[in-house]
Amino acid sequence: MTLTHETPPHRAEAAQPQKILQAGPLPPGLAGQLPTLGPVEILSDMPDPEAFLQERGGDFAVLVTTGTGGAGRSLIDALPNLKAICSLGVGYDAIDMEAVRARGLMVSNTPDVLNDCVADLAMGLLIDVVRGLSASDRHVRRGDWNRVGPTRPSTRVSGKRLGLLGMGRIGQVIARRATGFDMDIRYHTRSAKPHLPWQHEPSLIALAQWCDFLIVACPGSPETFHLVSADVLKALGPQGYLVNVARGTVVDERALVAALQNGELAGAGLDVFEHEPEVPAELIVSEQVVLLPHVGSATRETRAAMCNLVLDNVRAFLAEGRLLTPIGL
Ligand code: NAP
Repeated sequence: MTLTHETPPHRAEAAQPQKILQAGPLPPGLAGQLPTLGPVEILSDMPDPEAFLQERGGDFAVLVTTGTGGAGRSLIDALPNLKAICSLGVGYDAIDMEAVRARGLMVSNTPDVLNDCVADLAMGLLIDVVRGLSASDRHVRRGDWNRVGPTRPSTRVSGKRLGLLGMGRIGQVIARRATGFDMDIRYHTRSAKPHLPWQHEPSLIALAQWCDFLIVACPGSPETFHLVSADVLKALGPQGYLVNVARGTVVDERALVAALQNGELAGAGLDVFEHEPEVPAELIVSEQVVLLPHVGSATRETRAAMCNLVLDNVRAFLAEGRLLTPIGL
């Protein structure tokens, strides 16, 4: 019998710890814990990320990224042994899903844990822009209360008609919040949700015509690109307000600027923009808008829950080859 010191190939493979590639900066709670799950390299820390990928791209089984950082086709292509992408955030429009499907990769996001905080922010933005809170705050700080007098009366919020574009996890929590404000609620989605107590509106234009306030809570995708068009904004009308806590790409931003400037829309509360972090100069100087730097889920509690869910997904993948909150492809 011949004895060999060579390890059988499958044994050698099994002994290899599965390596994790961190695409870019992550919150400290997540970045600090990832190395407890396996060896981690941080792509954005590499002096020459392209050269690094060429040399070491084959090492990684898991990619950890964020909803805004995503994973483009070139990154996915540069990781030939990639099996899973674990993303911080619920939106995955920045991940190239065609490349994901073509490669049969698994992808996880962080649904549900952020619903409350995003819905809170949507209601906050709505009340702020309709009642003019931030504008009034600026008025007081400028000394205009003393010099000019109080601000002009704003618009009532309670009891108004609320239209929701998107009635998923976040949309439903917004609708429940709005119920507490005695609002009449209808929504537009591709399919009606007969189990919900609110009326489905098959036409977005008809919803915009009907409502006083339109809140956007659907995903960013090629299908939702510029869904809130010049015509939808016109239908919302000169007394209407738009709130977007979803993705900037869902709203035609140039049309929004024009509608505000032409008096075709009363105001907008925006947490997201088409070309973040760029915000159109016309919006920066407008008193009709409230502008936030994409902070829908950015509370300490929710960010901690999101980070833990990413870690749990990476852990489950490394231990059992499955993800806890996979995106249905
Ligand atoms: P979700 O549960 O998947 O709900 C999405 C909703 O949008 C569903 O009601 C869906 O209904 C509807 N929808 C999808 N495509 C549509 C289309 N083409 N036309 C009309 N409606 C459409 O998602 P979620 O967890 O509520 O999150 C929604 C989005 O919020 C995320 O994708 C993310 O981009 C954004 N978000 C933003 C922040 C922030 O920081 N601002 C934080 C978290 C999430 P149908 O399938 O029946 O159409």
